[in-house]
Amino acid sequence: MLLPRLREEVLEANLELVRRGLVLFTFGNASGISRDQNLVVIKPSGVPYEGMKPEHMVVTDLDGTIVEGDFRPSSDLPTHLVLYGAFPEIGGVAHTHSEYATAWAQARRPIPCFGTTHADYFRGPVPVTEVMADGVIANEYEKNTGHAIVRAFENLPYASVPAVLVANHGPFAWGPDPAAAAHSAAILEAVARMAYFTINIDAGAKPVGSGLHDKHYLRKHGSNAYYGQAKEKK
Ligand SMILES: [Zn+2]
Repeated sequence: MLLPRLREEVLEANLELVRRGLVLFTFGNASGISRDQNLVVIKPSGVPYEGMKPEHMVVTDLDGTIVEGDFRPSSDLPTHLVLYGAFPEIGGVAHTHSEYATAWAQARRPIPCFGTTHADYFRGPVPVTEVMADGVIANEYEKNTGHAIVRAFENLPYASVPAVLVANHGPFAWGPDPAAAAHSAAILEAVARMAYFTINIDAGAKPVGSGLHDKHYLRKHGSNAYYGQAKEKK
């Protein structure tokens, strides 16, 4: 069996999305990529999570051709493939219809950074993609969803804002591996929920200033990060 470890990681990321309450029925999927072998591992389409095993994961090449697997891959595979192609440093992608993030996506509103929870993980508002034209939706919809996401990051570093809202659809999140992608999806949902409450308390609530935003983001990320325990030098 190809990529046994990555299969485990992808299965675990998919189960994590369910455990965190981000996926209703099968409305979600996570994948991972082997950059060495140029192969992607993704959840099978429409298979129930109960009893899902590593061997049920589907291995494809970067064109989406199945290399190993008895099931059809998740129908969102083309979106994942576009992201792996455009964002060379990511190793995992997670997609959900988690309620609060999806509500922002449906409203076509970026999630402003109202506080340090958001600032710790996303260096700026979480953007929304442009609305796709009917012709684009009719033809290669999932692939064009990927292109719409990439366009939203033309002037935005994908590594420091590891999630996006696809207009009228829902969130995609990513990270260095499948677990990190699932983690980003969970943090995104928490941040979306808090932002929703914030504007309900005060419709005129203001985003945090760049000083506080950078302070919090850079505590955890970048060369001078000091949050948590010192990492062993490699
Ligand atoms: Zn979806």
